Amino acid sequence: MNLVDDYSTDTFHDEPARDQAVAVVRRLQQAGFKALWAGGCVRDFLLGLRPSDYDVATDAVPDQVRQLFGERHTLAIGAAFGVILVRGPGGVGDVEVATFRTEGPYNDGRRPERVVFSTPEEDAQRRDFTINGLFYDPLSEQLFDYVGGRDDLRRKVLRAIGDPLERFTEDKLRILRAVRISSRFGLELDVGTAEAIRQMANQITVVSQERIAQELKKILTHPTRRQAIERGATLGILEVVIPELREAMIGRSTSAVSHETPFVDWLATLDALGHLNSPDFELGLATLLLPIGGAGNRPAAAKIAAQICRRLKLSTVEGEQTSWLVERVSALEEMPGATLAMQKKLLGHRWGRNLIALSRAVAIARGGPPTSAEYCERFLDGLSERELRPEPVVTGDDLIRMQLSPGKRFKEILGTLYDLQLEGEIENREEGLKWISDHLKDG
Ligand code: ATP
Ligand code: MG
Repeated sequence: MNLVDDYSTDTFHDEPARDQAVAVVRRLQQAGFKALWAGGCVRDFLLGLRPSDYDVATDAVPDQVRQLFGERHTLAIGAAFGVILVRGPGGVGDVEVATFRTEGPYNDGRRPERVVFSTPEEDAQRRDFTINGLFYDPLSEQLFDYVGGRDDLRRKVLRAIGDPLERFTEDKLRILRAVRISSRFGLELDVGTAEAIRQMANQITVVSQERIAQELKKILTHPTRRQAIERGATLGILEVVIPELREAMIGRSTSAVSHETPFVDWLATLDALGHLNSPDFELGLATLLLPIGGAGNRPAAAKIAAQICRRLKLSTVEGEQTSWLVERVSALEEMPGATLAMQKKLLGHRWGRNLIALSRAVAIARGGPPTSAEYCERFLDGLSERELRPEPVVTGDDLIRMQLSPGKRFKEILGTLYDLQLEGEIENREEGLKWISDHLKDG
Protein backbone atom coordinates (compact mmCIF):
# COMPACT_ATOMS: atom_id res chain seq x y z
CA MET A 1 0.00 0.00 0.00
CA ASN A 2 1.38 3.40 -0.92
CA LEU A 3 0.81 6.52 1.08
CA VAL A 4 -1.11 9.30 -0.52
CA ASP A 5 1.41 12.09 -0.97
CA ASP A 6 -0.45 15.21 -1.86
CA TYR A 7 -3.08 14.86 0.90
CA SER A 8 -5.78 15.70 -1.56
CA THR A 9 -9.21 15.27 -0.05
CA ASP A 10 -10.58 14.64 -3.51
CA THR A 11 -9.56 10.99 -3.48
CA PHE A 12 -13.17 9.84 -3.09
CA HIS A 13 -15.28 12.03 -5.29
CA ASP A 14 -18.48 10.15 -4.88
CA GLU A 15 -18.59 9.99 -1.15
CA PRO A 16 -21.41 11.66 0.75
CA ALA A 17 -19.87 10.51 4.04
CA ARG A 18 -16.64 12.33 3.23
CA ASP A 19 -18.50 15.46 2.11
CA GLN A 20 -20.38 15.46 5.38
CA ALA A 21 -17.14 15.02 7.35
CA VAL A 22 -15.67 18.02 5.51
CA ALA A 23 -18.84 20.07 6.08
CA VAL A 24 -18.77 19.39 9.83
CA VAL A 25 -15.15 20.58 10.05
CA ARG A 26 -15.99 23.69 7.99
CA ARG A 27 -18.95 24.61 10.17
CA LEU A 28 -16.90 24.27 13.37
CA GLN A 29 -13.97 26.25 11.97
CA GLN A 30 -16.27 29.00 10.69
CA ALA A 31 -17.66 29.31 14.21
CA GLY A 32 -14.10 29.92 15.42
CA PHE A 33 -13.27 26.47 16.76
CA LYS A 34 -10.40 24.16 15.94
CA ALA A 35 -11.65 21.09 14.12
CA LEU A 36 -9.75 18.20 12.51
CA TRP A 37 -10.34 14.72 11.20
CA ALA A 38 -8.90 12.33 13.76
CA GLY A 39 -7.73 8.75 14.17
CA GLY A 40 -8.70 5.85 11.93
CA CYS A 41 -10.16 7.97 9.14
CA VAL A 42 -6.87 9.88 8.71
CA ARG A 43 -4.95 6.61 8.64
CA ASP A 44 -7.30 5.17 6.02
CA PHE A 45 -7.19 8.36 4.01
CA LEU A 46 -3.35 8.34 3.94
CA LEU A 47 -3.45 4.74 2.76
CA GLY A 48 -5.85 5.67 -0.02
CA LEU A 49 -8.61 3.56 1.55
CA ARG A 50 -12.22 4.51 2.07
CA PRO A 51 -12.74 5.07 5.81
CA SER A 52 -15.61 3.10 7.38
CA ASP A 53 -16.48 6.14 9.50
CA TYR A 54 -15.20 9.66 10.10
CA ASP A 55 -14.29 11.11 13.47
CA VAL A 56 -13.82 14.81 14.02
CA ALA A 57 -11.89 16.20 17.01
CA THR A 58 -12.48 19.76 18.16
CA ASP A 59 -11.87 22.24 20.97
CA ALA A 60 -15.60 22.98 21.10
CA VAL A 61 -17.14 21.35 24.18
CA PRO A 62 -20.16 19.04 23.77
CA ASP A 63 -22.73 21.78 24.57
CA GLN A 64 -21.18 24.07 21.98
CA VAL A 65 -21.25 21.29 19.38
CA ARG A 66 -24.93 20.63 20.07
CA GLN A 67 -25.75 24.32 19.96
CA LEU A 68 -23.93 24.80 16.67
CA PHE A 69 -25.55 21.86 14.85
CA GLY A 70 -28.87 21.98 16.70
CA GLU A 71 -30.32 19.51 19.18
CA ARG A 72 -32.39 17.88 16.45
CA HIS A 73 -29.34 17.04 14.35
CA THR A 74 -27.17 15.74 17.17
CA LEU A 75 -27.10 12.88 19.61
CA ALA A 76 -25.14 12.88 22.87
CA ILE A 77 -23.73 9.35 22.49
CA GLY A 78 -20.92 9.77 24.96
CA ALA A 79 -21.37 13.19 26.48
CA ALA A 80 -19.29 12.22 29.53
CA PHE A 81 -16.38 11.54 27.18
CA GLY A 82 -17.19 14.59 25.08
CA VAL A 83 -18.60 12.69 22.10
CA ILE A 84 -21.53 14.05 20.08
CA LEU A 85 -22.93 12.40 16.99
CA VAL A 86 -23.79 14.88 14.23
CA ARG A 87 -26.43 13.35 11.99
CA GLY A 88 -25.86 13.42 8.24
CA PRO A 89 -28.71 14.56 6.00
CA GLY A 90 -31.06 11.66 5.29
CA GLY A 91 -29.18 9.34 7.64
CA VAL A 92 -26.05 9.32 5.44
CA GLY A 93 -22.71 10.40 6.84
CA ASP A 94 -23.15 10.58 10.59
CA VAL A 95 -19.97 12.07 12.05
CA GLU A 96 -18.73 11.59 15.61
CA VAL A 97 -17.48 14.88 16.97
CA ALA A 98 -15.30 14.54 20.07
CA THR A 99 -13.75 17.25 22.17
CA PHE A 100 -9.92 17.03 22.43
CA ARG A 101 -9.35 15.20 25.67
CA THR A 102 -6.92 13.56 28.06
CA GLU A 103 -8.01 10.34 29.73
CA GLY A 104 -7.15 8.81 33.02
CA PRO A 105 -6.52 7.17 35.26
CA TYR A 106 -7.52 3.66 34.17
CA ASN A 107 -8.28 1.68 37.29
CA ASP A 108 -9.90 -1.42 35.91
CA GLY A 109 -8.00 -2.09 32.69
CA ARG A 110 -11.07 -1.23 30.65
CA ARG A 111 -12.10 2.40 30.79
CA PRO A 112 -10.85 5.73 32.11
CA GLU A 113 -12.12 7.09 35.42
CA ARG A 114 -12.65 10.52 33.93
CA VAL A 115 -11.70 12.69 30.98
CA VAL A 116 -10.35 16.24 30.89
CA PHE A 117 -10.83 18.41 27.82
CA SER A 118 -7.48 19.45 26.37
CA THR A 119 -5.43 20.00 23.20
CA PRO A 120 -4.79 18.02 19.97
CA GLU A 121 -1.26 17.18 21.18
CA GLU A 122 -2.64 15.61 24.35
CA ASP A 123 -5.55 13.99 22.55
CA ALA A 124 -3.06 12.19 20.30
CA GLN A 125 -1.35 10.76 23.40
CA ARG A 126 -4.49 9.01 24.66
CA ARG A 127 -4.93 7.05 21.41
CA ASP A 128 -3.70 3.50 21.07
CA PHE A 129 -1.24 3.28 18.15
CA THR A 130 0.80 5.91 16.34
CA ILE A 131 -0.95 5.24 13.03
CA ASN A 132 -4.27 5.90 14.83
CA GLY A 133 -3.01 9.11 16.43
CA LEU A 134 -3.00 11.38 13.39
CA PHE A 135 -5.05 14.52 12.69
CA TYR A 136 -5.82 16.09 9.36
CA ASP A 137 -7.40 19.36 8.34
CA PRO A 138 -9.40 18.63 5.19
CA LEU A 139 -9.78 22.36 4.42
CA SER A 140 -6.11 23.43 4.57
CA GLU A 141 -5.04 19.86 3.65
CA GLN A 142 -2.53 19.83 6.51
CA LEU A 143 -1.47 16.78 8.49
CA PHE A 144 -0.83 17.05 12.25
CA ASP A 145 1.38 14.24 13.47
CA TYR A 146 2.42 14.47 17.14
CA VAL A 147 3.31 10.79 17.53
CA GLY A 148 5.33 9.78 14.46
CA GLY A 149 2.37 7.96 12.93
CA ARG A 150 3.13 8.90 9.35
CA ASP A 151 6.64 7.43 9.51
CA ASP A 152 5.36 4.24 11.07
CA LEU A 153 2.74 3.99 8.35
CA ARG A 154 5.43 4.47 5.73
CA ARG A 155 7.67 1.87 7.37
CA LYS A 156 4.69 -0.41 7.91
CA VAL A 157 5.03 -0.68 11.66
CA LEU A 158 2.35 -0.80 14.33
CA ARG A 159 3.62 0.86 17.48
CA ALA A 160 1.87 1.74 20.71
CA ILE A 161 1.93 5.44 21.58
CA GLY A 162 4.20 5.89 24.61
CA ASP A 163 5.07 2.94 26.85
CA PRO A 164 3.36 -0.16 25.41
CA LEU A 165 3.08 -1.97 28.74
CA GLU A 166 1.40 1.04 30.27
CA ARG A 167 -0.96 1.50 27.33
CA PHE A 168 -2.02 -2.15 27.34
CA THR A 169 -2.46 -2.05 31.10
CA GLU A 170 -4.85 0.90 30.77
CA ASP A 171 -7.13 -0.86 28.30
CA LYS A 172 -6.48 -4.52 27.62
CA LEU A 173 -8.65 -4.60 24.55
CA ARG A 174 -5.77 -2.78 22.82
CA ILE A 175 -3.89 -6.10 22.87
CA LEU A 176 -6.49 -7.57 20.54
CA ARG A 177 -6.78 -4.37 18.51
CA ALA A 178 -3.02 -4.56 17.89
CA VAL A 179 -3.42 -7.99 16.34
CA ARG A 180 -6.39 -6.96 14.24
CA ILE A 181 -5.09 -3.62 13.02
CA SER A 182 -1.55 -4.80 12.27
CA SER A 183 -2.84 -7.75 10.25
CA ARG A 184 -5.43 -5.69 8.49
CA PHE A 185 -2.87 -3.27 7.10
CA GLY A 186 -0.02 -5.75 6.70
CA LEU A 187 2.11 -4.05 9.37
CA GLU A 188 4.91 -5.55 11.43
CA LEU A 189 4.61 -5.14 15.17
CA ASP A 190 7.21 -2.88 16.71
CA VAL A 191 9.51 -5.00 18.92
CA GLY A 192 8.56 -3.35 22.21
CA THR A 193 4.88 -3.46 21.35
CA ALA A 194 5.06 -7.17 20.47
CA GLU A 195 6.95 -7.94 23.67
CA ALA A 196 4.33 -6.14 25.77
CA ILE A 197 1.55 -8.07 24.03
CA ARG A 198 3.26 -11.39 24.79
CA GLN A 199 3.72 -10.42 28.41
CA MET A 200 0.16 -9.30 28.89
CA ALA A 201 -1.74 -11.72 26.68
CA ASN A 202 -3.27 -13.65 29.57
CA GLN A 203 -4.84 -10.47 30.97
CA ILE A 204 -7.15 -9.91 28.04
CA THR A 205 -9.81 -11.76 30.03
CA VAL A 206 -10.61 -8.66 32.14
CA VAL A 207 -12.18 -7.18 29.03
CA SER A 208 -15.87 -7.93 28.57
CA GLN A 209 -16.69 -10.86 26.32
CA GLU A 210 -18.86 -8.53 24.22
CA ARG A 211 -15.91 -6.30 23.34
CA ILE A 212 -13.73 -9.34 22.65
CA ALA A 213 -16.43 -10.79 20.38
CA GLN A 214 -16.68 -7.50 18.53
CA GLU A 215 -12.96 -7.65 17.70
CA LEU A 216 -13.22 -11.31 16.74
CA LYS A 217 -16.05 -10.43 14.39
CA LYS A 218 -13.99 -7.76 12.67
CA ILE A 219 -11.02 -10.13 12.41
CA LEU A 220 -12.93 -13.09 10.99
CA THR A 221 -14.88 -11.13 8.41
CA HIS A 222 -11.83 -9.31 7.02
CA PRO A 223 -9.78 -10.73 4.11
CA THR A 224 -6.71 -10.79 6.38
CA ARG A 225 -8.37 -13.16 8.89
CA ARG A 226 -5.78 -15.88 8.39
CA GLN A 227 -2.84 -13.60 9.19
CA ALA A 228 -4.64 -12.14 12.22
CA ILE A 229 -5.53 -15.53 13.69
CA GLU A 230 -2.01 -16.82 13.08
CA ARG A 231 -0.54 -13.75 14.72
CA GLY A 232 -2.95 -14.03 17.65
CA ALA A 233 -1.87 -17.65 18.10
CA THR A 234 1.84 -16.86 17.89
CA LEU A 235 1.53 -14.08 20.46
CA GLY A 236 -0.36 -16.32 22.89
CA ILE A 237 -3.63 -14.36 22.74
CA LEU A 238 -5.84 -16.81 20.91
CA GLU A 239 -5.44 -19.50 23.55
CA VAL A 240 -6.59 -17.01 26.17
CA VAL A 241 -9.61 -15.87 24.19
CA ILE A 242 -10.56 -19.44 23.13
CA PRO A 243 -8.76 -21.89 25.45
CA GLU A 244 -10.56 -24.78 23.72
CA LEU A 245 -8.21 -24.25 20.75
CA ARG A 246 -5.10 -24.71 22.81
CA GLU A 247 -4.83 -28.43 22.30
CA ALA A 248 -5.17 -28.07 18.55
CA MET A 249 -2.55 -25.33 18.39
CA ILE A 250 0.18 -27.11 20.32
CA GLY A 251 -0.37 -30.43 18.57
CA ARG A 252 -2.34 -33.34 19.91
CA SER A 253 0.43 -35.79 20.70
CA THR A 254 1.10 -34.40 24.16
CA SER A 255 -2.51 -33.89 25.03
CA ALA A 256 -4.22 -35.87 27.72
CA VAL A 257 -7.62 -34.54 26.75
CA SER A 258 -8.20 -36.34 23.49
CA HIS A 259 -6.29 -38.74 21.33
CA GLU A 260 -8.86 -38.71 18.60
CA THR A 261 -7.72 -37.59 15.17
CA PRO A 262 -8.86 -33.99 14.77
CA PHE A 263 -11.20 -33.15 11.94
CA VAL A 264 -8.59 -30.73 10.62
CA ASP A 265 -5.26 -29.87 12.17
CA TRP A 266 -4.20 -26.35 13.04
CA LEU A 267 -2.35 -25.59 9.81
CA ALA A 268 -5.27 -26.80 7.73
CA THR A 269 -7.56 -24.62 9.85
CA LEU A 270 -5.46 -21.56 9.04
CA ASP A 271 -5.48 -22.51 5.36
CA ALA A 272 -9.24 -22.99 5.41
CA LEU A 273 -9.67 -19.54 7.00
CA GLY A 274 -7.61 -18.11 4.17
CA HIS A 275 -9.72 -19.87 1.55
CA LEU A 276 -13.04 -18.46 2.75
CA ASN A 277 -14.48 -15.93 0.39
CA SER A 278 -16.15 -12.92 2.11
CA PRO A 279 -17.58 -15.08 4.90
CA ASP A 280 -20.04 -13.82 7.45
CA PHE A 281 -19.01 -14.04 11.09
CA GLU A 282 -20.64 -17.42 11.75
CA LEU A 283 -18.86 -19.09 8.84
CA GLY A 284 -15.53 -17.59 9.90
CA LEU A 285 -16.01 -18.67 13.50
CA ALA A 286 -17.15 -22.19 12.58
CA THR A 287 -14.00 -22.57 10.48
CA LEU A 288 -11.82 -21.40 13.35
CA LEU A 289 -13.46 -23.90 15.70
CA LEU A 290 -13.13 -26.93 13.38
CA PRO A 291 -10.05 -28.46 15.03
CA ILE A 292 -11.94 -28.77 18.32
CA GLY A 293 -13.16 -32.30 18.99
CA GLY A 294 -12.33 -35.44 17.06
CA ALA A 295 -13.15 -36.22 13.48
CA GLY A 296 -15.59 -38.90 14.54
CA ASN A 297 -17.36 -36.89 17.16
CA ARG A 298 -18.88 -33.87 15.52
CA PRO A 299 -21.83 -33.60 17.93
CA ALA A 300 -19.37 -33.20 20.80
CA ALA A 301 -17.46 -30.56 18.82
CA ALA A 302 -20.71 -28.74 18.11
CA LYS A 303 -21.54 -28.72 21.81
CA ILE A 304 -18.20 -27.14 22.67
CA ALA A 305 -18.70 -24.60 19.87
CA ALA A 306 -22.09 -23.69 21.34
CA GLN A 307 -20.50 -23.17 24.77
CA ILE A 308 -17.86 -20.90 23.28
CA CYS A 309 -20.54 -18.84 21.54
CA ARG A 310 -22.47 -18.50 24.78
CA ARG A 311 -19.35 -17.41 26.62
CA LEU A 312 -18.70 -14.78 23.94
CA LYS A 313 -22.30 -13.58 24.49
CA LEU A 314 -23.14 -14.03 20.84
CA SER A 315 -26.78 -13.91 19.83
CA THR A 316 -28.77 -17.14 19.89
CA VAL A 317 -28.87 -17.45 16.12
CA GLU A 318 -25.17 -16.71 15.77
CA GLY A 319 -24.46 -19.52 18.22
CA GLU A 320 -26.93 -21.85 16.56
CA GLN A 321 -25.51 -21.39 13.10
CA THR A 322 -21.91 -21.73 14.26
CA SER A 323 -22.49 -25.03 16.03
CA TRP A 324 -24.76 -26.27 13.20
CA LEU A 325 -21.90 -25.74 10.76
CA VAL A 326 -19.30 -27.30 13.06
CA GLU A 327 -21.43 -30.39 13.47
CA ARG A 328 -22.21 -30.90 9.79
CA VAL A 329 -18.87 -30.00 8.26
CA SER A 330 -18.39 -33.39 6.62
CA ALA A 331 -22.08 -34.14 5.93
CA LEU A 332 -21.80 -32.99 2.34
CA GLU A 333 -19.47 -35.84 1.49
CA GLU A 334 -22.45 -38.16 1.74
CA MET A 335 -24.76 -36.04 -0.35
CA PRO A 336 -24.43 -37.64 -3.79
CA GLY A 337 -25.62 -40.94 -2.31
CA ALA A 338 -28.33 -39.51 -0.06
CA THR A 339 -32.05 -39.45 -0.86
CA LEU A 340 -33.41 -36.49 -2.74
CA ALA A 341 -35.36 -35.45 0.37
CA MET A 342 -32.22 -35.49 2.51
CA GLN A 343 -30.27 -33.46 -0.02
CA LYS A 344 -33.01 -30.89 -0.36
CA LYS A 345 -33.45 -30.56 3.39
CA LEU A 346 -29.76 -30.11 4.18
CA LEU A 347 -28.74 -27.97 1.22
CA GLY A 348 -31.99 -26.01 1.16
CA HIS A 349 -31.57 -25.17 4.84
CA ARG A 350 -31.12 -21.45 5.39
CA TRP A 351 -27.47 -22.10 6.33
CA GLY A 352 -26.87 -24.58 3.49
CA ARG A 353 -24.85 -22.15 1.36
CA ASN A 354 -22.50 -21.51 4.27
CA LEU A 355 -22.10 -25.25 4.79
CA ILE A 356 -21.07 -25.60 1.16
CA ALA A 357 -18.59 -22.73 1.51
CA LEU A 358 -17.15 -24.37 4.64
CA SER A 359 -16.80 -27.73 2.93
CA ARG A 360 -15.09 -26.09 -0.03
CA ALA A 361 -12.55 -24.23 2.13
CA VAL A 362 -11.73 -27.36 4.12
CA ALA A 363 -11.30 -29.50 0.99
CA ILE A 364 -8.92 -26.99 -0.57
CA ALA A 365 -7.01 -26.65 2.71
CA ARG A 366 -6.53 -30.41 2.73
CA GLY A 367 -5.08 -30.26 -0.75
CA GLY A 368 -7.94 -32.00 -2.51
CA PRO A 369 -10.44 -30.69 -5.05
CA PRO A 370 -13.70 -29.49 -3.45
CA THR A 371 -15.71 -32.23 -5.12
CA SER A 372 -18.59 -32.41 -2.62
CA ALA A 373 -18.99 -28.66 -2.45
CA GLU A 374 -19.16 -28.44 -6.19
CA TYR A 375 -21.66 -31.24 -6.46
CA CYS A 376 -23.86 -29.53 -3.84
CA GLU A 377 -23.60 -26.16 -5.49
CA ARG A 378 -24.68 -27.59 -8.84
CA PHE A 379 -27.51 -29.42 -7.11
CA LEU A 380 -28.79 -26.19 -5.52
CA ASP A 381 -28.35 -24.14 -8.67
CA GLY A 382 -30.33 -26.69 -10.66
CA LEU A 383 -33.45 -26.44 -8.51
CA SER A 384 -36.14 -23.80 -8.38
CA GLU A 385 -37.26 -22.42 -5.05
CA ARG A 386 -40.52 -24.43 -5.43
CA GLU A 387 -38.66 -27.67 -6.04
CA LEU A 388 -36.30 -27.07 -3.15
CA ARG A 389 -38.71 -25.76 -0.52
CA PRO A 390 -42.26 -26.50 -1.68
CA GLU A 391 -45.25 -25.58 0.45
CA PRO A 392 -46.46 -28.80 2.13
CA VAL A 393 -49.46 -30.18 0.21
CA VAL A 394 -50.98 -31.48 3.45
CA THR A 395 -50.96 -29.64 6.77
CA GLY A 396 -51.71 -30.38 10.40
CA ASP A 397 -55.22 -28.98 9.92
CA ASP A 398 -55.93 -31.68 7.36
CA LEU A 399 -54.87 -34.35 9.84
CA ILE A 400 -57.07 -32.86 12.56
CA ARG A 401 -60.00 -32.95 10.16
CA MET A 402 -59.22 -36.63 9.69
CA GLN A 403 -59.68 -37.12 13.45
CA LEU A 404 -55.98 -37.37 14.27
CA SER A 405 -54.75 -35.59 17.35
CA PRO A 406 -51.43 -33.73 17.47
CA GLY A 407 -48.56 -35.74 18.90
CA LYS A 408 -45.55 -37.78 17.93
CA ARG A 409 -47.29 -39.93 15.33
CA PHE A 410 -48.99 -36.87 13.88
CA LYS A 411 -45.59 -35.27 13.37
CA GLU A 412 -44.15 -38.42 11.86
CA ILE A 413 -46.93 -38.57 9.29
CA LEU A 414 -46.39 -34.96 8.28
CA GLY A 415 -42.61 -35.54 8.09
CA THR A 416 -42.94 -38.65 5.94
CA LEU A 417 -45.42 -36.90 3.69
CA TYR A 418 -43.15 -33.93 3.18
CA ASP A 419 -40.24 -36.25 2.37
CA LEU A 420 -42.39 -38.00 -0.23
CA GLN A 421 -43.25 -34.63 -1.65
CA LEU A 422 -39.55 -33.68 -1.82
CA GLU A 423 -38.87 -37.02 -3.53
CA GLY A 424 -41.50 -36.16 -6.12
CA GLU A 425 -43.70 -39.10 -5.20
CA ILE A 426 -46.57 -36.97 -3.98
CA GLU A 427 -47.35 -33.95 -6.08
CA ASN A 428 -50.62 -32.51 -4.81
CA ARG A 429 -53.06 -32.41 -1.96
CA GLU A 430 -55.27 -35.10 -3.37
CA GLU A 431 -52.40 -37.57 -3.57
CA GLY A 432 -51.34 -36.55 -0.09
CA LEU A 433 -54.74 -37.16 1.44
CA LYS A 434 -55.04 -40.48 -0.35
CA TRP A 435 -51.65 -41.54 0.98
CA ILE A 436 -52.80 -40.76 4.52
CA SER A 437 -56.04 -42.67 4.32
CA ASP A 438 -54.26 -45.69 2.75
CA HIS A 439 -51.62 -45.44 5.40
CA LEU A 440 -54.09 -45.16 8.28
CA LYS A 441 -55.97 -48.20 7.03
CA ASP A 442 -52.69 -50.19 7.07
CA GLY A 443 -51.48 -48.85 10.38
P1 ATP B 1 -12.09 0.90 12.25
O1 ATP B 1 -11.72 1.06 10.83
O2 ATP B 1 -12.24 -0.53 12.66
O3 ATP B 1 -13.22 1.77 12.66
P2 ATP B 1 -10.52 2.66 13.86
O4 ATP B 1 -9.05 2.77 14.13
O5 ATP B 1 -11.18 3.81 13.20
O6 ATP B 1 -10.76 1.33 13.05
P3 ATP B 1 -12.40 3.03 15.96
O7 ATP B 1 -12.86 2.01 16.96
O8 ATP B 1 -13.36 3.60 14.98
O9 ATP B 1 -11.17 2.34 15.24
O10 ATP B 1 -11.73 4.21 16.80
C1 ATP B 1 -11.39 5.46 16.22
C2 ATP B 1 -10.10 5.96 16.85
O11 ATP B 1 -10.25 6.06 18.27
C3 ATP B 1 -8.90 5.06 16.65
O12 ATP B 1 -8.28 5.26 15.41
C4 ATP B 1 -8.03 5.44 17.82
O13 ATP B 1 -7.37 6.66 17.59
C5 ATP B 1 -9.04 5.67 18.93
N1 ATP B 1 -9.31 4.44 19.70
C6 ATP B 1 -10.28 3.51 19.50
N2 ATP B 1 -10.26 2.55 20.41
C7 ATP B 1 -9.25 2.85 21.25
C8 ATP B 1 -8.71 2.25 22.43
N3 ATP B 1 -9.23 1.12 22.91
N4 ATP B 1 -7.69 2.87 23.05
C9 ATP B 1 -7.18 4.03 22.56
N5 ATP B 1 -7.62 4.64 21.47
C10 ATP B 1 -8.65 4.08 20.82
MG1 MG C 1 -13.26 3.99 12.83
